[in-house]
Amino acid sequence: MSFASLGLTPALLRAVREQGYHAPTAIQAAALPPVLAGRDVLAIAQTGSGKTAAFVLPLLQRLVESPARPGPRVLVLAPTRELAAQTAELLRELAARLLHRPKIALAFGGVSINPQLMALRGGCDVMVATPGRLLDLLDHNGLQLAGVQHLVLDEADRLLGQGFADELQRVLALVPARRQSLLFSATFAPAVQALADALLHEPERIVI
Ligand code: AMP
Repeated sequence: MSFASLGLTPALLRAVREQGYHAPTAIQAAALPPVLAGRDVLAIAQTGSGKTAAFVLPLLQRLVESPARPGPRVLVLAPTRELAAQTAELLRELAARLLHRPKIALAFGGVSINPQLMALRGGCDVMVATPGRLLDLLDHNGLQLAGVQHLVLDEADRLLGQGFADELQRVLALVPARRQSLLFSATFAPAVQALADALLHEPERIVI
């Protein structure tokens, strides 16, 4: 299996090579085709499986392939500051290798909101955030979510398990109904199933 056979364009293939990835991991091989095709995905995969690149690569490709418009067009919700920061870092490393570099924004709680508001002033294409701080930024008119085309819930079991469920529901009410949704979770708990049922439209189911 190669990244080329999964449908990545030459620009993304070069970025992947420069990242030091030679072959796709199992989750990447399973997720890239449906994500590139615009389908919803429910993936049960652990950290360490390469799950971050499994959504970052195809969503970057979707972004650069379609005409620019006010963002964020991709919204990634993560349960912790560390996970959000890691995801934003991979997005930035790959985006820096593309001709039309999508702009990546990162926000998490526990630090001053002002630098995050300032960083959003020029707009962004991809927003990676923890749910509570995202709501704070929305309250401060730091961004709006009407342009979101692709939603990712990363480590959904932890997003639901850390008292974020209410915040998550408030965010979900603000993203357009017509969108692609990707749900990644390490476990398939009943709450994850319920969220998937509410959120996903005929998803491709992937279990790694
Ligand atoms: P993740 O599961 O997304 O946290 O990724 C775990 C680690 O695997 C990260 O350090 C990535 O840099 C690495 N990784 C992801 N995809 C690949 C790949 N296709 N080839 C080699 N390393 C990878």
